[in-house]
Amino acid sequence: MNRMNEHGGICVFSEANDLILELLGKARELADKLHVKLTAVQFGKNAQEKANELVRYGADKVYALDNPALEIFQDEAYLNVLHDIAVRDSPEILMIGSTRNGKPLAARLATRLDAGCVPDCIAVELDGSGRLIGERITYGGNALARVAFKSKPQIVTVPARAFEKRAPQERKGEIVKLDVKVEPSRVEVVERKPLETSSERVEEAEVIVSCGRGLEKKDDIALLKQVADVVGGQVGCSRPLVEDRKWFSEWIGLSGHKVKPKLYIASGVSGVIQHVAGIRDAKIIVAINKDPEAPIFEIADYGVVGDLYQVLPALKDALKKQLQ
Ligand SMILES: Cc1cc2nc3c(=O)[nH]c(=O)nc-3n(C[C@H](O)[C@H](O)[C@H](O)COP(=O)(O)OP(=O)(O)OC[C@H]3O[C@@H](n4cnc5c(N)ncnc54)[C@H](O)[C@@H]3O)c2cc1C
Repeated sequence: MNRMNEHGGICVFSEANDLILELLGKARELADKLHVKLTAVQFGKNAQEKANELVRYGADKVYALDNPALEIFQDEAYLNVLHDIAVRDSPEILMIGSTRNGKPLAARLATRLDAGCVPDCIAVELDGSGRLIGERITYGGNALARVAFKSKPQIVTVPARAFEKRAPQERKGEIVKLDVKVEPSRVEVVERKPLETSSERVEEAEVIVSCGRGLEKKDDIALLKQVADVVGGQVGCSRPLVEDRKWFSEWIGLSGHKVKPKLYIASGVSGVIQHVAGIRDAKIIVAINKDPEAPIFEIADYGVVGDLYQVLPALKDALKKQLQ
């Protein structure tokens, strides 16, 4: 049955440029299965230009709100627009990026629409009757919950890197310019400054050399950096190196970045579930740990039982030789 022209469909939104493309990748697959229209929402300066990109990445229709006042995320204004679109189009699925702004936005939208909301889905699929099932990590990373909806719209939030972008294609889509009256914000932005983070984004790295509490002092990060430099990778870490030792500003894991590198080298990381939750999509995991019983060996593709202070320099030399 072709329901392409009926009311309904799937609507995606994220204020994060990459994340909305990832959402479109998965949403396109679902829309094709359900034979429904895929709509995206784009706010801010150059919204129409960006809307064309969203069409290339899978959207059938994009609402473009080319309003400089909406360039920066504004919870009330974004919520009103998404609510109006949801009321007008009655999408059966609303997929929103799980960002710091997106999660509360989705929760508020669900409240207004009297709908269910499943946050932080790392996977979504349709059951036999076309109902959405969201899968999320729960109990501190110890279990996976599969949650089905009992009503529509079905609202999910999805974190970065859960889904792949599709390859962009030249496709035709409808771009609908929307003008909305933006009420003056009740919040004044006093100052904006970039977060002090490593210059590159660890979640985009193809190779990550990471360390845990097995690393004794901050200066020893140089050992990891030397290995990472040989293979064009980046350095990452477990949460205690940020929270307790303050050596880094971002960590990898359940409550940190979820990464998908081709190669993940974990040195001096025990491999508890909360860390593993962030690296389960790595293609190859190499573990270096002096404790042969460390849980990281259970998920590693290759394991080296040894002292990272000996193994990392030897690995660097071997890699250098190999790549010469
Ligand atoms: C709600 C919640 C969320 C959390 N989220 C995260 C998260 O997102 N990411 C995260 O990482 N953690 C997270 N944690 C913390 C997590 O539970 C662990 O405490 C943490 O991951 C352990 O870090 P680690 O492996 O570096 O340290 P440890 O568990 O102390 O392991 C250190 C390892 O280094 C090895 N080692 C020591 N010296 C050497 C050496 N010289 N050479 C080789 N190996 C050596 C040891 O054998 C040991 O296995 C979370 C915890 C909670 C409660």
